[in-house]
Amino acid sequence: MDCLLPDVLAALSGEAPADTRMVVPPAAFTAGASGRSPGSARAVGKGAYGTDLAFHVDGANFTVQWEDATVDPARADAILAQLEAAWPVLVDDGGWPAPVSSDTYLLRVVLDPELGGSGYTTVYPTDDYPEGYPVSYLNPAYDIADPEFGLSVAVHEFGHMLQYRLRDWQGGRADSWYWEATSEWVAERAAPTLDTYAESSYWYAQWPDARFDRVERYHGYGMLLLNAYLDERVFGLEGIRDVWIAGEGNVTTWDVLIEGVAGRDFGELMAGMAGEVAARTLRESNLYDTPIRVATHDQAPEWEVIDAPELYGSHLIDVGSGEVTVEGDVALAYVIAGELGEMPADGPYTLVVTALSENGEVAYGLARPVEEEEEVPVAACGCGGGFGGGWLGVGLGLLAVRRRAGARLPSRTGPL
Ligand SMILES: [Zn+2]
Repeated sequence: MDCLLPDVLAALSGEAPADTRMVVPPAAFTAGASGRSPGSARAVGKGAYGTDLAFHVDGANFTVQWEDATVDPARADAILAQLEAAWPVLVDDGGWPAPVSSDTYLLRVVLDPELGGSGYTTVYPTDDYPEGYPVSYLNPAYDIADPEFGLSVAVHEFGHMLQYRLRDWQGGRADSWYWEATSEWVAERAAPTLDTYAESSYWYAQWPDARFDRVERYHGYGMLLLNAYLDERVFGLEGIRDVWIAGEGNVTTWDVLIEGVAGRDFGELMAGMAGEVAARTLRESNLYDTPIRVATHDQAPEWEVIDAPELYGSHLIDVGSGEVTVEGDVALAYVIAGELGEMPADGPYTLVVTALSENGEVAYGLARPVEEEEEVPVAACGCGGGFGGGWLGVGLGLLAVRRRAGARLPSRTGPL
């Protein structure tokens, strides 16, 4: 998935656009737009807003259009059919408010083999639609290599059309993680046989300890797994829709919106997702990548102190066997032979540690070491700099770890 929506939100918010069409519509799209222009009217049904491109195929709700004669019309037909099949799932049955302009006009989807990614969706404000009407761009060159991927991208971009109806771009790039997480999941729910969406689980699996709202390294696409969990275990696809409805006309962050619809603590939800992803208990877990481990032990260690994950991110630790104590502001899950459960006395298991605050540490092991009080005066000497400073720094570093390891940190355990 190489959707450029984060760049579009950034461009709409004032950053230089990577593609001018992200903010400036091609002239044809607004020519004669108020009322139907001769080029866009249809004998039956809705027409396009503005003027048609050289080639187009129409359905009840979408018009797929292109200028480049090398584009295979059969691909345009396949994309159109996939989009029209997604419409009733999401709008008629799913209750998502229909995209801006779609009550009067066909939604325009442009095929452009020169596009710098697999696709993107933007909005163009006009006098008729001051909030902006959506247009999607798809790169049919991606279809040639992987036809199912191209169809999945089309549905993904339709998801963005629905999102723009409810949420404006004021949040910019930082807001984009849940746009992508939602469009990835919408592509599964509205086109369930394609399954190429699952490839984006890689971006979570490579960085499970990232802060929940990271947009770097495609992490937001990987957060489709949060929506898989929310859909399957918490509030269904309706709940995801309701999160978007709750986000209409405000810039409230997604964690707060999700928490409000779910009626549950966001950290608890993130821990629940991380546990199920690690246990591979979600419905299509067989398609998802396995998250990387921060540490792997053959036998449970005596005592380890590591940086906590970023906020609401998770460490996965293969503990080996043995009952360990865990300290830190974290939620815990235990994965034993592919199931979530209580920490076993013996047998290998995976510890899933989800951070509930920022910049903390996690300590775990068979037994917390006794504090070595006699070393404290070393830290209190206050002598630094000069030739010995480096050595003193090392000493202080070790001491700091010991003191933190000895500190009593709050710990949350129990069922998630
Ligand atoms: Zn996208």
